[in-house]
Amino acid sequence: MARDERGVTPQSEDFSAWYNELVAKAQLVDRGPAKGTMIIRPYGYRLWELLQAELDRRIKDTGHENAYFPLLIPESYLRREAEHVEGFSPELAVVTHAGGKELDEPLVVRPTSETIIGEMMAKWISSHRDLPLLLNQWANVVRWELRPRMFLRTTEFLWQEGHTAHADEADAMRETMLALDIYAEVARDIAAIPVVPGEKTPGERFAGAVRTFTIEGMMRDGKALQAGTSHYMGTNFAKAFEIQYTSEAGRLELCHTTSWGMSTRMLGGVIMTHGDDKGLVLPPALAPHQVVIVPIGRGEQGEQTLAAARELAGRLKAAGVRAHVDDRSQLSPGFRFNDWELRGVPVRLELGPRDLASGTAVMAKRLGEEGKEQVPLESLPELMPGVLADFQAFLLERATAFRDSNTSRTDTWEAFAEAVATGWASALHCGEASCEDEIKAKTAATPRCIPLAGEPESGSCIHCGAPAAYGKRVLFGRAY
Ligand SMILES: [Zn+2]
Repeated sequence: MARDERGVTPQSEDFSAWYNELVAKAQLVDRGPAKGTMIIRPYGYRLWELLQAELDRRIKDTGHENAYFPLLIPESYLRREAEHVEGFSPELAVVTHAGGKELDEPLVVRPTSETIIGEMMAKWISSHRDLPLLLNQWANVVRWELRPRMFLRTTEFLWQEGHTAHADEADAMRETMLALDIYAEVARDIAAIPVVPGEKTPGERFAGAVRTFTIEGMMRDGKALQAGTSHYMGTNFAKAFEIQYTSEAGRLELCHTTSWGMSTRMLGGVIMTHGDDKGLVLPPALAPHQVVIVPIGRGEQGEQTLAAARELAGRLKAAGVRAHVDDRSQLSPGFRFNDWELRGVPVRLELGPRDLASGTAVMAKRLGEEGKEQVPLESLPELMPGVLADFQAFLLERATAFRDSNTSRTDTWEAFAEAVATGWASALHCGEASCEDEIKAKTAATPRCIPLAGEPESGSCIHCGAPAAYGKRVLFGRAY
């Protein structure tokens, strides 16, 4: 069947158009009426729920508890931490009127919750026995967005934000790295995105943080996506909100706090890491439908294949596979095949009258060289978990190979500029913010992170020639 109106602009022609058309046509999202807002449709929301469940389980397994704090925060709270308010001011939505009159104090719609959680931590913590305090919240936040992009930059988005308080720097840093590890694991094992964990340079730090860590993934256009961040706040918020405890020795001490977040932006990362000209390619761990069965045939034959498809779906579900039967018999098989390819379903099973008579189905994977194969209906429930696991592993391998072949170690400015035009450059840098700015102005690339795994190295800055900072290479790239 020829490409119908559901097709999307090829990635190679216009990556941005491909993305914008795909998120709509795959029925993940729609635009909200207020600028920059996003309506997450059921197929997109299911993706989020599956990611959320994986993340939530790991957050709880590591001793954190979920809580919920208010959406509205007194404006004065944000002003208590100077860098924090300066960083967030341009993005704030502020409520000045409510209940028909002007408020005495404006209320900020939370852009993040350090301040209100800090205020409550101060109330709840008094002794060293109250530490560590390990909280997480699943919530929506609002950051006014001038250049919205579905999932990647929306005025309102969904996320989790971890907020923890500790007795000292060592314990808070262990927590900061634990959260980063959880993010890297979810990105690799669930989203099949081979992220690079590393530290942000000072210019890219979270407003109010002492150290910011990130996981960075490479999208299929060579740009980077920051997919999760973890911050060590030092005692900055503890000072601003008087988060203190009495030590064993009886002294009053400031807590060391952390915060960390992963958001619906991650779904944009899944789309741009794996998708192709036919549409989405979903990792089985996140696919709302891991297997779609398309019964084929008209009239009585159609009824027979539909009944067999339902029976097969029941057996696949019993084997732990998310299976869906496409019973839209009014649509042609070709249309339905294209539709599920567009929507990224990992495995499609076609079940026609002839297949049914021979006790088989035709299995077609969303990606791979094998093409279609005949598989006995009887063996599918036993076979499918392995097929899906292989597909998941294949996606991670493919994305890793893509990232590695588009990352260059560069030691000259010419090589650096060439590398960041299409991918990432690993280079030495002086650490000066002004030098970072000049690199950005010339190439649109920014320092993505100082990879944790980087080898010790010294030398001179790729741009200005001054002695290199950090003692290792920095990863640069254009970013979302
Ligand atoms: Zn420099």
